Parts: sequence; structure tokens; C-alpha cells
Amino acid sequence: MDFSLNENQHMIADMIKKFGDEHIRPKMMEWDEAQTFPVEVFKKLGDLGLMGVLVPTEYGGSGFGYAEYVTAITELGKICGSIALSMAAHNSLCTGHIMAFGNEEQKKKYLPKLASAEFIGAWGLTEPNTGSDAMRMKCVAKEDGDYWVLNGTKCWITHGITGDVAVVIARTGELLDSHGMTAFIVERGTPGFNAGKKENKLGMRASETAEMIFDNCRVPKSQVLGNVGDGFIQAMKILDGGRISIAALSLGIAKGAYDASIKYAKEREQFGQPIGNFQAIGFKLADMATEIEAAELLTFQAAYLKTNHKKVTKESAFAKYYASEVAVRCSVEAVQIFGGYGYTKDFPVEKFYRDSKLCTIGEGTSEIQKLVIAREILK
Ligand SMILES: Cc1cc2nc3c(=O)[nH]c(=O)nc-3n(C[C@H](O)[C@H](O)[C@H](O)COP(=O)(O)OP(=O)(O)OC[C@H]3O[C@@H](n4cnc5c(N)ncnc54)[C@H](O)[C@@H]3O)c2cc1C
Repeated sequence: MDFSLNENQHMIADMIKKFGDEHIRPKMMEWDEAQTFPVEVFKKLGDLGLMGVLVPTEYGGSGFGYAEYVTAITELGKICGSIALSMAAHNSLCTGHIMAFGNEEQKKKYLPKLASAEFIGAWGLTEPNTGSDAMRMKCVAKEDGDYWVLNGTKCWITHGITGDVAVVIARTGELLDSHGMTAFIVERGTPGFNAGKKENKLGMRASETAEMIFDNCRVPKSQVLGNVGDGFIQAMKILDGGRISIAALSLGIAKGAYDASIKYAKEREQFGQPIGNFQAIGFKLADMATEIEAAELLTFQAAYLKTNHKKVTKESAFAKYYASEVAVRCSVEAVQIFGGYGYTKDFPVEKFYRDSKLCTIGEGTSEIQKLVIAREILK
């Protein structure tokens, strides 16, 4: 495995650095404070080809592999976790699900619009009482002539209000039957599909998280993704890929916190010398650097395997579990290195600290990653 960055990755990293300076950094604390989801930024990311990174060019996407995708999310994560999270959810979950399991007609209809960001995508698996244990979901779909009728609530959905199109997994069979759930594409504006409560979050505040409510929502049978009964199995496969994107997001946050810490440790003086000269601070930076390197290698490994169409259940869980915990550890240490200034909104580490925690929760908590890994290694 050669993990050196290719030409496209260098190009994407440079492009995002410039884009971040112009369109994200000047406004991101304002969005964070007000919990504004800046749709216009995602439209611009669409113009740059970053809202359909993995979508084949024939469907209007950039046609890149996971290496380029990881670079894009990591670079965005170094700037603003919220923008990186929303970009990742749009690409991996909604778009990724339609790309992997949609028929030709569905792909032609939705992928070009998602890749250009004309449509913002959402993906609904989680419900109020079923997060980690998604198989017990209560949202039901009942067959009625040429339609399926959806009833229930999905919660914690990224773009639950703004999303123009959602992939929704609902129960079509028996409780606890892994073949008792089906995935549907539901367009905003479909009668009975409403947005619910928007969450007021600790971090990732510019990434919209909200409920999606289905009240006798009639969805034509042509909107079923793949086979009836395959929705849960499909969702688990989508999460295998999605977890690589959360690992990349975690890596971006960890790197952002580390870069800021290195700079500060060289500039800030106490006792007549830069604080980086104190072994206590140098050791923190050494731990951060080592753990970031390890997280990056695990993430690159999972990306490499995924691009080469190998099963990545264990490797994506390794990457997501480790990188997300590293993001939290690095941003905690970054706040400590900044001292009192780290506890204010005048420096970036406070935001990395708040944003990082989502990474150990979304798309499967750290505990669930350990369950997945244990299951794989005990097979
Ligand atoms: C900002 C944000 C965005 C999100 N976006 C989306 C989205 O777009 N679409 C979507 O479908 N979902 C989304 N989610 C939901 C997310 O995937 C869930 O929050 C996550 O899977 C955990 O579920 P839960 O919150 O219900 O926690 P719970 O499952 O209730 O877990 C609570 C605690 O119990 C632990 N636990 C649970 N089961 C076990 C077990 N068997 N063994 C050991 N420990 C266990 C967990 O690790 C955790 O520590 C989002 C969440 C957030 C916060």
C-alpha cells in the first residue's frame, strides 16, 4: 500500500485551503454561535465537485476514490468540523446509498443533482428509542397499491430540515428480522414528510441536525432502493464506508488542533521561554503527533481497501474508533496547551474541542465500533 498523496489529493488539499480562507474561516464562528447551516457554502462546494466526490463522472460527479475523499474531508475538518460533517453525510450516506443500491433510473434522477448540490441529501436510520440498536426501529412502511405508506419519526438526522431528498430506512417486516426493513428515497415536499425539532448541540453547530417526521407519507414503489427487505443490510454496508469519512473528519479535527498547538507552543512564552521548551508541553505534542500518524495510517488503510472493493467492516471500525478518540484527546490537550486562552472563542481550539466529541458518537459510538471489531476478530 502506497499512502503518499497523489496529484489529485494535492490539488484537492490546495483547493480546500483557499476555499476555507475565502468562504469558511471568516464566518464560521458566527454560524457556530447562531447554529446557522450555511447552505450557500455547500452549493459552492458542489461547484468544486466536492458534493459528489465518489460519484462517477457519467452521473455528474468527480469520479474519485476514497483516498481523494479522505483528503477532502480531512482538509475541511482542519478548518471547520461542521462543514466537513455535513459534506461527509451528504456524500457517504444519502448519495452513497443511492449510488450503491439505486437502479439506473434512480441514479440518473438523483445523483447529478446531489453531486452538484442542487439537492442536499439526508439519511435517516436513527430513531428516538433506537440509536445503536437500529434493528428495533419503529418507523413503519405499509404497502398500499402502488405506494408504501410511511409513519414514524427519525431523529438526529443531518439535514433533516434542509435536505431536499432523504434516504429513509423503515420497517416493512417483523421486529428483529434483519430482512424486515426497506430503504426508500423520499423527496422534500412529499405530503406527510415534515421536518421536526432542530437539535441545539454542544458542537458541530453549523451542521444541521433535526427530526424527520412521517405522517401517512405515501411514497411510490418506484422509490424503493434495491429489494424490499434489504434496507438494514444496505444501511450496514453504507456505514462501513461512512465510518471512513468520520475517521477522516476526526483526523482533520486532530490535525487542526495539533497545528494550532505547535504554533502556540512556539509563540507563547512563560518563565522567559516558549512553552514548547517545557517537557510537559513537548510530550503532549509528541503524543498528539504519534497518535495522529497512527490514525492517519488506519484511515488510509481503510480507504485503500474500500477503493479496491474489499470488505472494510473491521478496518473502517478500526479507523473510526481510533481516529475519533484521537480527535477528542488531541483537542483536549490543545485546550490545555493554550491555557486560559484555549477556553475562549478567540482561539480555534475551543471549537475543535466541542466538535471532536461528535466523532465518537455519530455513525456508531466507540463502544459499537468495539463490538463490530470484536465480532470480526472472533469470527
Ligand atoms: C450530530 C449528529 C448527527 C447525526 N446524524 C445522523 C444522520 O444523519 N442519520 C442517522 O440516521 N443518524 C444520525 N445520528 C445518530 C447517531 O448515529 C446516533 O446518535 C448514534 O448511533 C448513537 O445512538 P444513540 O444516540 O441513540 O445512543 P444509544 O444507542 O442510546 O447509546 C447510549 C450509550 O450506550 C452505549 N451502548 C449502546 N448499546 C451498547 C452495547 N450494545 N454495548 C455497549 N454500549 C452500548 C453507547 O455506546 C452510548 O455510549 C447523528 C447523531 C448526531 C449527534
